[in-house]
Amino acid sequence: MKALITSTEATRLINENLPAVATVHCPLNKCAGRILREAIHADRPFPPFNRSMMDGYAIRASEIDAEGIFKITIQAPAGSPAQLIGPAPRSCAEIMTGAVVPEDADCVVPYEETKRIDEHTMQLLNPNTHQANDCIHGFASDRPAGQQILALGTPIGSREIAVAATCGNTELAVAKIPSIAIISTGDELVNIDSTPAAHQIRRSNDIMVETALVRSHLYSQEKAHLPDNYEACKAALQTLLSKNEILLLSGGVSMGKKDYIPDALDELGLTNHFHGIAQKPGKPMGFWTNQKCSVFTLPGNPLSTLTCLHQYVIPAIFNAMGQQTIEATRSVNIDQDISARDDFTIFLPVSIHEHNTATPQPVNNSGDLVHILKSDGYIVVPPIQTKSYSVGSEFDFHPWH
Ligand code: AMP
Ligand code: MG
Repeated sequence: MKALITSTEATRLINENLPAVATVHCPLNKCAGRILREAIHADRPFPPFNRSMMDGYAIRASEIDAEGIFKITIQAPAGSPAQLIGPAPRSCAEIMTGAVVPEDADCVVPYEETKRIDEHTMQLLNPNTHQANDCIHGFASDRPAGQQILALGTPIGSREIAVAATCGNTELAVAKIPSIAIISTGDELVNIDSTPAAHQIRRSNDIMVETALVRSHLYSQEKAHLPDNYEACKAALQTLLSKNEILLLSGGVSMGKKDYIPDALDELGLTNHFHGIAQKPGKPMGFWTNQKCSVFTLPGNPLSTLTCLHQYVIPAIFNAMGQQTIEATRSVNIDQDISARDDFTIFLPVSIHEHNTATPQPVNNSGDLVHILKSDGYIVVPPIQTKSYSVGSEFDFHPWH
């Protein structure tokens, strides 16, 4: 390992050296979770006509008198072209939600506030309560034609898809999902469906990483497992590097005699940007790149792998995909005093309760998979001279994916 760098410096070095992701065109129904690579403008006014917001009657508000009786002259269902109610005093249209409000009417009264007298007549129940513009979604009141509605770099969810659809986009320019390989390492690890010998454990990091990526709308193209053997690691890495844009390794990156990954990456000609962060858990994390591929080496203990993935890898990939609107970091307040360090950033698992309070849920050590289950995510506890933070202190919270 090299001299330790700070967590902030590690984020900066990753963002500086992870290449921008290419743009692709994607059918609208496949865009969820992608990052928009074009701005979307209103193709027509929003809404494009005075739209009735209720089922009821369209009247002229100025014609309301104490009696409130109106003559129904037309039917105005949604999907019909614009009509007029006509000049006769106290004419009205029977209108449906989503229909064009007749140009010679200015107020919609919902059925619930009326009484039908006969086929052609209705009466307002409370005549003095209605005014012009009631229950009308006014022409262009949301956005005029031509104005930007979605900015470049917006993460696409159901609301963005709806706006893109209503503007007539059948596909969108979005960031490509980079090709990611998830690679586990270690001779002690066996397949999930194997019965481990006394000295072995089942492999879980790779599927944990894959799950967190999928929940972030990122997909791995390839998975591999490397033995603790230098030549075998080097040969396998060479192939993986040639086929993928990002490698996510877990294990084999610390000080152990058989932690061969850093040397193999150096030997394969990659540039090392850092190896070792002043943080707990996850101190041995490193980052390497060559022209084609970026390699994140995550320490193998499950909590270290998971924390480094959430803190560095997923945000960096979204940054490389051009995400502009960073989701607001959620601040939480701890409900008890906690100890900290003056030299390390601590990522502390917490559970979240009402009013944004966080209860520390420490694990036995970073190999303790089971106690992570009690936490909803982790808080970032910066180094502090006094080596403690008191109850009520505020921290950034990151939920587990
Ligand atoms: P390492 O970083 O290779 O020294 O691994 C640290 C610890 O994490 C060891 O106890 C490993 O057995 C464990 N570990 C590494 N990779 C995995 C994995 N894919 N699944 C579960 N545990 C792992
Ligand atoms: Mg190992």
